[in-house]
Amino acid sequence: MLDNKVGIALDGPSGSGKSTLAKKLARELGYVYIDTGALYRAVGLFVFRRGIASDDRESIVPLLDEIDITMKLVDGGGKVFLGGKELGDEIRTPEISKYASDVSKIPEVRAFLLETQRSIARENNVVMDGRDIGTVILPDAKVKIFVTASDSARAKRRCAELISRGENVTYEQVLEDMRWRDENDRSRKIALAVPAKDSAILDNSELDIDMTFEAALKIIKGKLEES
Ligand code: C5P
Repeated sequence: MLDNKVGIALDGPSGSGKSTLAKKLARELGYVYIDTGALYRAVGLFVFRRGIASDDRESIVPLLDEIDITMKLVDGGGKVFLGGKELGDEIRTPEISKYASDVSKIPEVRAFLLETQRSIARENNVVMDGRDIGTVILPDAKVKIFVTASDSARAKRRCAELISRGENVTYEQVLEDMRWRDENDRSRKIALAVPAKDSAILDNSELDIDMTFEAALKIIKGKLEES
């Protein structure tokens, strides 16, 4: 990252409200919002469309030479394009969530997406949401926040989000999927979804969006004043 650019790393598990928070913070600060999960989802979608199992590393690694994934800035946010086509809700289904979680365990996939993420942060002030932003992608980020919440709070939010998009899901299903993904994300050997040593921890189990936003803004202002 260039010294004159500010990177805000927001890491944490799925359903912690990171992406809603990151978007709100980016709007408030006039920074670019980058959803790095969308990049892993794009790889997952590509693999899925090829009919390859999400854990078939031997088949997936050679495919990386063929995947054309780019991130372009549209309306203040990074939008993901696959083969030149902007991706939308097709990467947000439970099936592609599972694919994304599995392909993200493959070191070659992480290496493939690393430069896309770093280059955006080099050129722009960013609020970047992911799992390993503070630990791997932007280890020098000026602000690092690990956003977390209880299982039930996260599953409730995720369930409401999926239902609002017309997905036919139940709370129990969502909770089970989420626990599977958490375990999958936590147990991998690389890019663990854990806080960086210099991360502030923001547990928002009992906080609504506005309270979470105020708490994050306070952390950011404090950190930026220090630096
Ligand atoms: O954040 P989101 O739920 O969209 O991410 C989809 C999946 O991609 C996660 O389950 C996680 O395994 C993976 N991911 C990752 N590193 C990131 C962002 C997402 O491994 N920086």
